[in-house]
Amino acid sequence: MEVILMPEVIEVGDVAAKRGELKKGIIKGVELVNNVSIDIPVLVMNGVKEGPTLLLMSTQHGIEIQGIEVIRRVMREEVRPEGLRGAIIGIPVGNPLAFMHHQYLSWIDNLDVGRVRADNPRGNTTERLAHALWTEAWSKADLIVNLHCNTRPDSLIYQWINVGNPKTREKLEKMAEAFGVTTIVSDTPVAEDAPPTLGNLAARKGIPVLLAELIDGRWISEPSTSAGVRGVLNIMKVFDMIDGEPEPQRGFPIVPGVNRFYGIIRANRGGLIRFFKKPGEFIKQGEVLAEIYDLYGDVIEEVRMPVDGYVWAYPCGQSLGTSGSLQAVQTGANIAYAFTHEKD
Ligand SMILES: [Zn+2]
Repeated sequence: MEVILMPEVIEVGDVAAKRGELKKGIIKGVELVNNVSIDIPVLVMNGVKEGPTLLLMSTQHGIEIQGIEVIRRVMREEVRPEGLRGAIIGIPVGNPLAFMHHQYLSWIDNLDVGRVRADNPRGNTTERLAHALWTEAWSKADLIVNLHCNTRPDSLIYQWINVGNPKTREKLEKMAEAFGVTTIVSDTPVAEDAPPTLGNLAARKGIPVLLAELIDGRWISEPSTSAGVRGVLNIMKVFDMIDGEPEPQRGFPIVPGVNRFYGIIRANRGGLIRFFKKPGEFIKQGEVLAEIYDLYGDVIEEVRMPVDGYVWAYPCGQSLGTSGSLQAVQTGANIAYAFTHEKD
């Protein structure tokens, strides 16, 4: 078995955790016009024995808070340093500039800390946060779980893995099997000229990143938090960081096997919208999954499924990657994320 040699002291930001310690502190972030520093809180648990370093990060998007609770439960209740082989770095809020204004992106520049370049200490405001995350945390990890959420409580809990990079493929498949929810698989290698985002830098360095999408992202609630905690502990079990057998996920629908993202279904008309199919429910090609109606009550568009498959969420009216607005759409708005089932 692969033995990963760890330093005696794990340093992240201003935290230095010795063997057997759980410490909290900050990764230095950015300074506002009034000299207030917007930093990134971090927890570091250093186990008593050798093992991998697992990074758990939540709230890359500021309105997706369930992962904060997942990290709290894993690091403050479920795992103790005495029972840990390896280390856990917990970042409850990956983008404090988004979270502090209850919005998806950084309020200062409307950027996504996970989509900007993370290799430039002299970059713009959100790029500097990304750079801090990369140098202090992401680059020090052997395994990463990036916890996101769709907003509506009826969305489907799922995970996304990109198995297109030979250096991370095997570990990612092992992580996904352990986490145990509906899996969307893509296999696009990171291109040579792909921007140096957190995810792309990790892939190039051979660090597997599992993206977990919980649901009901604005409210700490079930089944998201238990699914997240169970999934993270399962990963820790199969990578021999803690004792125990992985527990199967339960309490919400799972589409097993390999699934592929099909595309975003968009509105062709504007108005209010109602939905007829549940995320995770099989929908035949051509079936009406939603309809858009105008303010007089007349139906002006029937939205049909473009392929035999499923949807994982109805992001509704917002044009960014996640919902957060009203049950209303404009032309071009994202209505649904569709996926197809490939094999069991
Ligand atoms: Zn997100």
